[in-house]
Amino acid sequence: MNTTPQSLRSNEMTILEHRLENEAERLRDHIASLKMFGLKERLPGAADVAAERDEQLVRRRLTVRRARRALRRTEAALRRMRDGTFGTCQRCGKPIDPDRLRVVPTATTCVACADGD
Ligand SMILES: [Zn+2]
Repeated sequence: MNTTPQSLRSNEMTILEHRLENEAERLRDHIASLKMFGLKERLPGAADVAAERDEQLVRRRLTVRRARRALRRTEAALRRMRDGTFGTCQRCGKPIDPDRLRVVPTATTCVACADGD
């Protein structure tokens, strides 16, 4: 038997928490700048330019949506850290492998449950 810990040490939790907080901050800034840029794009122009702008706007909205989703996942992980459910699989209730959490701190399921998707 090895002595690999089955949960993250508290100092690792602190590091992960900071990582998630920084990520949430970055995503909020990212979303805010994308939204500002989007407004500036709504300037009148030639039809073909407008069409291109529309396409860029659509793409930007998708980016904003993705960033919002990532932000929600990050904030949810931070909430789980605070309420003590972080690192517990939300599907089977077993502990999530600490190695998985180090790589994907926003993971809500263990590898076995994630594979079942
Ligand atoms: Zn599971």
